[in-house]
Amino acid sequence: MHPAPIWVGTSWKMNKGPAAAIEAARALAAFTPPEGVTPFVVPPFTSLKDVCAILHDTPVLTGAQNTHWEDAGAWTGEISPAMLAECGADLVEIGHSERRAHFGETDWTVNLKVHAVLRHGMRPLVCIGDSAQEHDFGVTRDVLARQIRIALHGVSPARMARVLVAYEPIWAIGTGGRAAEAGFVADIHASLRAVLVQIAGEQAGRNVPLLYGGSVTRDNARTYTRLENIDGVFVGRAAWNVTDFVQLIRSV
Ligand code: PGA
Repeated sequence: MHPAPIWVGTSWKMNKGPAAAIEAARALAAFTPPEGVTPFVVPPFTSLKDVCAILHDTPVLTGAQNTHWEDAGAWTGEISPAMLAECGADLVEIGHSERRAHFGETDWTVNLKVHAVLRHGMRPLVCIGDSAQEHDFGVTRDVLARQIRIALHGVSPARMARVLVAYEPIWAIGTGGRAAEAGFVADIHASLRAVLVQIAGEQAGRNVPLLYGGSVTRDNARTYTRLENIDGVFVGRAAWNVTDFVQLIRSV
C-alpha cells in the first residue's frame, strides 16, 4: 500500500478544442476517484479556464502544459504564470521532451519556470527524460541527475513540498506498447530519490512524488504504481478518451 496519494494524470497535448475539452471535463466532474488517488488533467491553454472552473470543486486537479517565467511583458505568443494562476490552474507541466526537442526548452529555462510556478502558489510538474542514445550508452542516471539538479536549483525545502517530478524516457513516449520495464523505472526512481534527498534533505526529498510516463496504459499502470518510489503515472495517448482515463485511474 502506498503511503501517499497515487497521482494519475493526463496531458491532452495539442488535442481537444474548447468544446471537446469542456465535454471531457464535465464527464470527469461526475466521476469519484478511488480513495488515495489524485487525478489531474492538463488541457490546452484555450480551455484551461473552462476546465479549471468545471473541475474546481472536484477531486480532479487541472494543469497547464507550459508557462513563461515572467509575469508580463513583450513576449509574443507566450502565457505567463500569473495568467495561469488567475485561470485557476493547480499545476504546470514544465520541460516535457516535446518542448525541449521542438521549442528550445533547456534545463535553464525549466529552472526559471519552476520558480515562476512556485512563486504563484502552483505546483510545477517537472518532466525529465533520457534519449534512446543516452539510454543505450548507459548514462541515463547521470543525464537525469543533471536535469533534476538544474531544474530544482534554488528551491527551498518548504517549496519543494509542491514539486512533482515525472520521469519520461523519450524512447518510451508514444510507442503504443514499448513502455519502460517497471523494474528499470523503479531503479531509476530510487536513484532520483537519492538525488532529491541530497538536494532537499531527507524529509522534503522523500516527499516529492515521482511519476512515470511513457506508453502507460490501463493494462500496465498498476505494474508501476505498486512499486516503491513510483508515486503515479503521467499518461498521454491512452487517456485522451475520458472513459479510458477513468478506467486507468480505477486500475491503479
Ligand atoms: P504517451 O505520452 O502516454 O502517449 O506515451 C506520455 C507523455 O508524453 O507524457
